[in-house]
Amino acid sequence: MTIREAVRAKARTIIREFHQIFGHAPLFNLHRWLCGLEVIRGTAPIQQGFRDMALEADGRVVLRVNRDRPTTRQRFSIGHEIGHTLFPEYEVSVRCRKATDRDWANPDDLLETLCDVASSEFLFPEPWFHKRVADMTLSAAEIVGLAKDYQASPDATVRRLVEVHPQPLAAVFLTWKLKPTEIRQRANDRNQQSMFADDPIPEPARKLRVDYAIVGSLFSKKFGDHIPKDKSTPCEGPIHQASLSQEPCDGALFLDLGTVARTFVVHAIPIYTPEESVGPDGGVSVVAVLRPDSK
Ligand SMILES: [Zn+2]
Repeated sequence: MTIREAVRAKARTIIREFHQIFGHAPLFNLHRWLCGLEVIRGTAPIQQGFRDMALEADGRVVLRVNRDRPTTRQRFSIGHEIGHTLFPEYEVSVRCRKATDRDWANPDDLLETLCDVASSEFLFPEPWFHKRVADMTLSAAEIVGLAKDYQASPDATVRRLVEVHPQPLAAVFLTWKLKPTEIRQRANDRNQQSMFADDPIPEPARKLRVDYAIVGSLFSKKFGDHIPKDKSTPCEGPIHQASLSQEPCDGALFLDLGTVARTFVVHAIPIYTPEESVGPDGGVSVVAVLRPDSK
């Protein structure tokens, strides 16, 4: 059993125990769970920072939740902090964490990643979420609906969907950016330009490129699990359409993703995009669920 599986198993045990007590189906009331946990006193608002835990004199902790964040973020944060309590000496370890958002592609941030794994189990619990996913018709709009029903962000929902779906699926998270070589070239050009001021060197154009990918186990068996960073997507098709229209879009698209080059059925969903990452013509970041077509 890998450490991830161990965390999942532990989280599922908690879900089963609470379900035996409270009996209802999701959405689960995470606040109610918290108060049932021996170690947690409850939640309190936080003004600065994103999420935190505070240790009380009696050894129990209070979760600090940023009430200014959207409910979806708050719920994920609470799940994440409950995740911390699954680990020994969590009271010590939670106080030296980075406050910034993590890089999902970075395996070094293991404890934080594992707490997110636990949070995902709490927010999209088995067997309810799995059954719902197995019964649904896959489309971008349905995935958005799924996220709404579970009061989770489209990002978190898609990550979980890809893991548990009975078909081979991958999800690529895309933002408008330059290739690393273009960024280096641009830095050189700017240096040169300051020496020879008159002739401006044209700036390379940003494209929707892969930030990171999540690959389901069935997809990984068929095509491997490596989708390289910074691969660009074609300038037309459902991914671009979703980025520019900021609406969920479906369609077939040929994608060349390193070892995988083929046509996929694509379900593209616009996701939260920080100001500095908005692309040309107001294009936003996108998560695209990829399903290999059957041919
Ligand atoms: Zn954490």
